[in-house]
Amino acid sequence: MNTTQTIEKLETKIDQIKAQLQNQGPMRPGSISRQFNVCGKPGCRCKDPKHPRRHGPYYQLNYVYRGKKASRFIRKEVLKQVRRELANYKGFRRLTEHWIGLV
Ligand SMILES: [Zn+2]
Repeated sequence: MNTTQTIEKLETKIDQIKAQLQNQGPMRPGSISRQFNVCGKPGCRCKDPKHPRRHGPYYQLNYVYRGKKASRFIRKEVLKQVRRELANYKGFRRLTEHWIGLV
């Protein structure tokens, strides 16, 4: 294979990546963790001496923003959407890494 063909192939691949990036939906970085909490109410079920049942699950999004770790709670109603955005971000990262690898 000569150099011109190789370059053309690479350009085609890069164009494909660009097209995929344009179809990228909303995205956000991070990962979701599940938590169960104990509250401050005396006599609450979460402090039952025999069978404590903690509150939750609560979903927390953990991410890094400008080099700092951050987190926020995610309401159950938007959990699915947030998971989709996280997956989109992973896809975005994969595509850009692939692109950089071709240059
Ligand atoms: Zn409680």
